[in-house]
Amino acid sequence: MVDDPLSLVQQPYPEARTVEDFHRNLAAIQTRIADACGRVGRDPAGVRLLPVSKTVDEARIRLAHAAGCRMLGENKVQEAQRKWETLADLPDLRWSVIGHLQTNKARRVACFASEFQALDSLRVAEALDRHLQAEGRSLDVFVQVNTSAEASKYGLHPDDVPAFLHALPAFSALRVRGLMTLAVLSGDAARVRECFIRLRTLRDRLRQDMPASVALGELSMGMSGDFEIAVEEGATVVRVGQAIFGARALPDSHYWLG
Ligand SMILES: *Cc1c(COP(=O)(O)O)cnc(C)c1O
Repeated sequence: MVDDPLSLVQQPYPEARTVEDFHRNLAAIQTRIADACGRVGRDPAGVRLLPVSKTVDEARIRLAHAAGCRMLGENKVQEAQRKWETLADLPDLRWSVIGHLQTNKARRVACFASEFQALDSLRVAEALDRHLQAEGRSLDVFVQVNTSAEASKYGLHPDDVPAFLHALPAFSALRVRGLMTLAVLSGDAARVRECFIRLRTLRDRLRQDMPASVALGELSMGMSGDFEIAVEEGATVVRVGQAIFGARALPDSHYWLG
């Protein structure tokens, strides 16, 4: 069995350096999404590709924008905010924060992000809501669930998700859209798939009994190495970095292991 935590970063993703490179990479991924949809009878229009631009510099982000990217995912708040500031001349470019957030950084997210995909604590929810109210803004949020039972990972235990969701309507600036997960870091496709099935099953079960303001339509799951499996299991958002921008030097554990 392959269980190498580095296997995802060792794949040969060439660096996109021109608008044409981005067009080609984006089109190739959309085709793979459509093929995965075809295998399970889904409409590809129901899957949003969120390009993840962490570690990518502003010059190459401009090329991605020229190739049509209008929302980008960033794992770290400071990096996202810096890019939002230096790319302010692209007003149609929006930002999704997809990494763990500390309460003391909630104010930053409230001022620039359009979406936050890693909500897993009520303290962060409260801080975001307070700062969003002050800014007169609202924010789309996804609740992050730990579906791999790895203690080192962020996200709520599945058993804790129902009570968490029931507490969220108190924070009216947060628009709950769905659930997000990272699969186990493994080359074993069956184990990866189990994580995605777990998220979808949890969502289907919780959907029966949710406050009206809590929408659970969205499932954000899948990245460069596993997005086709995620689409087959119901993903409505796939977060893809390396397969669009090129391989990253830093191991993924730098980003999402707590
Ligand atoms: C970096 C990252 C991704 C994308 O990973 P790639 O291997 O670059 O596709 C997805 N989700 C999260 C939370 C990330 O930090």
